[in-house]
Amino acid sequence: MTPEEAWRVLEEDLADYLARKGVKPSCQAGCSACCFGLVTLSRLEGLALLPHLSPAQKERLLEEGPRRLRLLQEGKDDPRFPSRFFQSQIPCPLLEGGLCGVYPHRPLACRGLLTRGDPRLCAPEADPPKGHFLPVPWRMARLRMEALWEEERRRYGYTLVGELASLLYLLLKGLPQEKEEVEALLKELGVLGGRWGYQVV
Ligand code: SF4
Repeated sequence: MTPEEAWRVLEEDLADYLARKGVKPSCQAGCSACCFGLVTLSRLEGLALLPHLSPAQKERLLEEGPRRLRLLQEGKDDPRFPSRFFQSQIPCPLLEGGLCGVYPHRPLACRGLLTRGDPRLCAPEADPPKGHFLPVPWRMARLRMEALWEEERRRYGYTLVGELASLLYLLLKGLPQEKEEVEALLKELGVLGGRWGYQVV
């Protein structure tokens, strides 16, 4: 399965699930609080996204990538890291005027995060109640992610997963293919492993 197929199949499955259950998410254009959160991406999804980036988006990633790597280096073992990250209130560099600038090519992790609750509770400073984000769409996205991780393992012999903007930055700069070289680079950057750091498995 390719990332493009995984994106398409998830969209179809989500539409079917929401229609069958009569669930109407409150997510709408211009509502972008979840784009301030810690979003993970696999190498395969990143590579599928790269050709669709505009020069301005690439420029913003090249600027933001090193800052995110520093944040990860300092906080990857901190259990409160995702909320600290959220509270830094710096949006995904692909967010443009409150809209996703790569909407048709956005990662599975972005597609699976839906709510039918009060959108104000998605805001970085809010503390959403349990269940605020719909669990089934998230599980459906997670299953597709796992299928892509398997596909990546078949192609490269391992899977690489990391924070969205910094992984796109590393891919733009040119990431080695060999597992040992990737691990050495991520170790040198101080972002390998830990609770929130890059995973090479
Ligand atoms: S890729 Fe798009 S949807 Fe995902 S966090 Fe970035 S701006 Fe938001």
